[in-house]
Amino acid sequence: MATEKMGFNSTVIHGGGASDPLGSAVTPIYQTSTFIFENADHGAACFSGESDGYIYTRIGNPTIRDLEKVIAQLEGGYDGIATASGMAAVTTVYAALLSQGDHMVSHNAVYGPSRGVMDSVFSRFGIQSTYVDATDINHVKDAIRPNTKLIYLETPANPTMGITDLEAVCKLAKAHGIKVCVDNTFCSPYLQRPLEYGADIVLHSMTKFINGHADVVAGMLVTSDKELYQQLRTVLVNMGGNMDPHQAYLARRGVKTMGIRIDRAQESALRIAEWLEKHPKVEWILYPGLPSHPQYELGKKQMKGPGCMISFGLKGGLDAGKILMNNVKLAILAVSLGGIETLIQHPASMTHSKLGPAKRAEAGISDGLVRFSVGIEECEDIIHDLSQALDKIPG
Ligand SMILES: *Cc1c(COP(=O)(O)O)cnc(C)c1O
Repeated sequence: MATEKMGFNSTVIHGGGASDPLGSAVTPIYQTSTFIFENADHGAACFSGESDGYIYTRIGNPTIRDLEKVIAQLEGGYDGIATASGMAAVTTVYAALLSQGDHMVSHNAVYGPSRGVMDSVFSRFGIQSTYVDATDINHVKDAIRPNTKLIYLETPANPTMGITDLEAVCKLAKAHGIKVCVDNTFCSPYLQRPLEYGADIVLHSMTKFINGHADVVAGMLVTSDKELYQQLRTVLVNMGGNMDPHQAYLARRGVKTMGIRIDRAQESALRIAEWLEKHPKVEWILYPGLPSHPQYELGKKQMKGPGCMISFGLKGGLDAGKILMNNVKLAILAVSLGGIETLIQHPASMTHSKLGPAKRAEAGISDGLVRFSVGIEECEDIIHDLSQALDKIPG
């Protein structure tokens, strides 16, 4: 069992909270939709909350509870709520905290679907939203209205790598009685714990660093207090965005190596970033571990390390980006991030191709921008792969 004093790399293994009556060392998969009541009184006690017995998997399940508890311990929060995907976590937060006529302030480089679902679904229920460059706290301050109920952030943001001052935003929000939710997917609790800076909710796509093996889609919410936990839990249970036990088992296994995976990938990421910064085909690079990053000092203050994600720009724009994508051999050409395998993505020709050049420029996505998620392969092999592919770009 976890104790308060255990460090991160012990908690990932021994934290959580499921105990198997048969003594299984690893939390088993309780692949069941429903749970047997001992008798009518026990059933009644489970429903009233007097007993914490399980009822039905949409409401709770021991495999899922283990995962929820370990992530809550790692984030330093009250408790966790596992969701079917990162987006199920996002929509749970919106639905729980925003009512008709309410307003949300968010970052203009927030994960695309987090904005998309607000614009296409929640707006139809009379919810308003404003997107600003939250790396400047004054933009957030100016966007606050009397009906603002939620500040929804992502730091570092994707793929511009802009860092938002968590302590400053949380202070501002508290002064206005506004809740703060931070999407911590890019960092994982290993590198950043937003609740420590005053955030109310931490959100994860566990699909990325927490599971880390590119074989599960899953999400998690961790709250700072019980009231918010119950509010979010009720919405999730009633809207049905719950996790599945098998998904929870795989994610729980991924959690155990989170620290060592990130240490390894981050060490390579810094070396690769330093190498890319000097490469003649590279126009610019954004990596929080390089002193050239505009918020280098802030990153050092609020993140335990600069992470494993690199954005860089190619001199030859769109064509150069396509040549790089078509010539990498080790790096996998795919969206997503945070896995043990190195992934490369070219937003202008891939994720953001539909936006068109003008809107891409507005979102800070230039045609030569490449997003690189560093895996745990040999660093020399990753650099060699990038090097031979960059050499194919003319000029
Ligand atoms: C992937 C991602 C999400 C969405 O998570 P899914 O698990 O794909 O639903 C949300 N935020 C960020 C930053 C992400 O990278």
